[in-house]
Amino acid sequence: MQAFNYQQPHEIAEAIRMIKAPRAKFIGGGTNLVDLMKGGAESPLTLIDVTRLPMAKIELTADGGMRIGAGVRNSDAAHHEELRQRYPLLAEALLSGASPQLRNMATVGGNLLQRTRCYYFYDTAYGECNKRNPGSGCAARQGINRIHAVLGASEACVATHPSDMAVALLALDAVVKVEGPQGARDIALADFHRLPGSTPEIDTQLRPDELIVAVWLPPSRAASHSHYLKVRDRQSYAFALVSVAVALELEGGQIAGARVALGGVAHKPWRAAATEAALTGAPYSQATIERASALAMQGAVPLAHNAFKIELGRRAVARALTVAGERT
Ligand SMILES: Cc1cc2nc3c(=O)[nH]c(=O)nc-3n(C[C@H](O)[C@H](O)[C@H](O)COP(=O)(O)OP(=O)(O)OC[C@H]3O[C@@H](n4cnc5c(N)ncnc54)[C@H](O)[C@@H]3O)c2cc1C
Ligand code: SF4
Repeated sequence: MQAFNYQQPHEIAEAIRMIKAPRAKFIGGGTNLVDLMKGGAESPLTLIDVTRLPMAKIELTADGGMRIGAGVRNSDAAHHEELRQRYPLLAEALLSGASPQLRNMATVGGNLLQRTRCYYFYDTAYGECNKRNPGSGCAARQGINRIHAVLGASEACVATHPSDMAVALLALDAVVKVEGPQGARDIALADFHRLPGSTPEIDTQLRPDELIVAVWLPPSRAASHSHYLKVRDRQSYAFALVSVAVALELEGGQIAGARVALGGVAHKPWRAAATEAALTGAPYSQATIERASALAMQGAVPLAHNAFKIELGRRAVARALTVAGERT
């Protein structure tokens, strides 16, 4: 591993000043970044530890929403009583990720910025990876691509985003709060992660010198009818092949509002817009679920080994809608 400096600021302004150092990176729990450094896929010269910064609180906000500090550990968020009551979908998604030990270390900010699990990205023995080495090609296109994207991919990259938490946050219309040398700004979670296009080395809209300070959740009317469904090779300690976050607002048997987000299928958490449109205003029924879930994978293009994700995606959406609607 490349030698690096380690800094431990206690103030946000100090951390933002420190990130100006050459090849500096923030580090949260280190559960992703340190692996990448050990394998040589990332080689920062300075690490700025964000876990001593004053951003590890979960608070209710005056507008009825909730603010989760970027330094909050995944376990603390998942077991926070008020969060579980107001946003059970988020708690479910968090608890489906990784293992208890990893969740005890992983932070909310780091989870959003974790990198793809594409094998060719991690294994530096492969020269071809546009995400790791722009312009080098994409080994996954012709290689083993069972876990890769079927939606929104590009010629340059077919990687998926691995976070469970981010899929639930998309369905909850979350906003990412960031601060940098140019001030503070809000980025809607829907716009936070990018599609690969011709620059797959850039995962998100966050600038390299910006710090995630919190995630804000608007008040949700879907708490009692939401569900996170994760389909994976093993029941525990495995990334999603396909996942679905569903949040329904049911009023007297009608669907007044619907949010459906998919994980494991694209370079970013994917909003199933056609499914949401088919659900909204319709009666909650088996016929509606069948019609809406059939639209969930619209536009999907399979690679050699992942065509199964298209049917799996439709079925997972149908199942998640059924579970969410039947909850009381
Ligand atoms: C074996 C294993 C299994 C896993 N399984 C799952 C799973 O099933 N589902 C799932 O969702 N995840 C899974 N993960 C991933 C895990 O959730 C992430 O590694 C973790 O969430 C990253 O958080 P962290 O705080 O450790 O990030 P770090 O590794 O510290 O950082 C990750 C990235 O975020 C940046 N960063 C961190 N904090 C900030 C901030 N506040 N502002 C700006 N940049 C920041 C760092 O610079 C780095 O680029 C797994 C990981 C492992 C090792
Ligand atoms: S899919 Fe993306 S991350 Fe994987 S090898 Fe291709 S360019 Fe690299």
